[in-house]
Amino acid sequence: TDQRFVGKVLVITGAGGQFGRAACRYFGERGARIAALDQNAEGLEGTFAELSDEFDSKGFVCDVTNASQVASVVERIVERFGRIDLLWNNAGYQGKIQSCLDYDPIDFANVMNINVTGMFIVLQAVARKMKQQGGGVIVNTASVAGMRGTPGMIAYASSKAAILTMTVNAAKELARFHIRVNSISPALIGPGYMWDRQNALHAELGPPYYADTAEKVGEAKINAVPMQRVGSVEEVLQSTAFLLSSESSYTTGINLVVDGG
Ligand code: NAD
Repeated sequence: TDQRFVGKVLVITGAGGQFGRAACRYFGERGARIAALDQNAEGLEGTFAELSDEFDSKGFVCDVTNASQVASVVERIVERFGRIDLLWNNAGYQGKIQSCLDYDPIDFANVMNINVTGMFIVLQAVARKMKQQGGGVIVNTASVAGMRGTPGMIAYASSKAAILTMTVNAAKELARFHIRVNSISPALIGPGYMWDRQNALHAELGPPYYADTAEKVGEAKINAVPMQRVGSVEEVLQSTAFLLSSESSYTTGINLVVDGG
């Protein structure tokens, strides 16, 4: 069995969402002690409803864009668990699906605030603790959108590009404190709500970038993937686990792409 995470204290943001919820179970089953953060109390409750009572875990309702709230939640996590070994900095917001010609600047700012400033606020608060403790590991969730752009999602793509640079910058500054910082960039992940929602919204945006039905959009996307399939949430977690574990002990500042080629 996988012993890499036994007894490790892992903070997961966006723990009420698709990846975060699956991660609570994945790392919990491997013996991690989990502090699960999300702004959405209902989402968090749903996560805990699926978790076995045997896992040493606790939920914290927390808005990552609120620095004083994050600081106080980090204090409460350290009181409850004693330390923070690992952070999956994963909360995010997709924003609207609109042409850049129409994109709402207020939503643009909101996407940047959650995905970039919010991620930075959590990274900073947790890294301060890790420095005091003598080390730690951080993984930020970016996206291939940040490397290649995604029509209709200029705010999201810009925010994810910022995360790639934030990761490299923090990795360089924090290496001397034995803190590693890497990012993960999933591409098409499914099946499920996110895959369906995005295809439906892309179909609404339609030509020239997308076909006019969600089904055709999905088909076209899969046809462009060398492996000819979407990735699973489990595959995202496996790559995240590699970066969070000591198997990647000499790797910092990289972006691990999970995109089927
Ligand atoms: P999701 O929408 O299911 O989960 C995101 C979670 O973040 C939600 O529970 C939401 O409440 C939380 N959140 C949003 N704003 C917050 C805030 N201000 N404070 C605290 N929590 C907040 O999405 P997901 O599919 O689980 O995605 C997780 C991460 O992976 C995101 O960063 C997303 O951009 C990225 N990603 C997802 C995919 C995909 O196909 N699902 C692909 C590439 C990247």
